[in-house]
Amino acid sequence: MSSSDQRPRGRKPVTGDDHGKDWASDDAVRHTKEDAINERQFEQMVQATYRMDDDYFARECRLVLFACGRLGMRPGELAHMCEGWINWEDERIEIPKHEPCTDGRTREICGHCRGAAEQMADIRTANTLDEHYQSLGPRDVLEPGGHVHELFVDPEPFYAQLWSPKTENAARKIPYAEASTRAALAVEDYFMHYDEFEASRGVVNRRVDRMAEQAADVDADEIYPHALRATAATYYAARGLSAMDLKALFGWSQFSTAIAYIEESPERLEDALQQLRH
Ligand SMILES: [Zn+2]
Repeated sequence: MSSSDQRPRGRKPVTGDDHGKDWASDDAVRHTKEDAINERQFEQMVQATYRMDDDYFARECRLVLFACGRLGMRPGELAHMCEGWINWEDERIEIPKHEPCTDGRTREICGHCRGAAEQMADIRTANTLDEHYQSLGPRDVLEPGGHVHELFVDPEPFYAQLWSPKTENAARKIPYAEASTRAALAVEDYFMHYDEFEASRGVVNRRVDRMAEQAADVDADEIYPHALRATAATYYAARGLSAMDLKALFGWSQFSTAIAYIEESPERLEDALQQLRH
């Protein structure tokens, strides 16, 4: 891949509402781990939601906080969530493999999915260009512009594939009530009032900022939805969840991501040593 494929995102790499973040590699997710907040900071964000005047914002903020920060949902998943994903009887959120996106302003495909389609087309373009250049003989001249330009892939045909979660493993079942009673209450409270998540992917970022601004120990510039997902992963790794179970809960495609959370959990080692003393 040439360096021109790595387009600058225009803002800090781990903040902002850039859609590409949801489609970032597992390496980027591992990097996000450093941005997880601790339990004191998380509780301060919970408290912030109870100081909000407007019921709608409070309810939506709490759903964002618990869905990302305790259930480990990706913000793109939350933005596309509807009540149909919830199996109330078995108390599970069932994230589908695919669902047509109608989250745009006039019920068309939303900006998040458009961004994902552009990324898919970019990857396809990069591969096509690679093949093209590799097929050139030693005497061929690399033709700039003109006919190379025809190899650029149009994102529109990819729209029909969206919305879909980032990988096949991301289509998963989240046992929300077993995971957290407070998360269950936040999910029930929100979907008692609304049939689907009302806001866009970009709004998820703004809700996180709003809570962070009112949480004394949280730096609003340092927290973002994927850092809340990392917070959830840190939380369950510390409580002894296995790599296999972490991978299933978070929908990762690689064990290495789960192992990275487990490796950096001092609580696990402390608990294991304590067990030996009994
Ligand atoms: Zn969408």
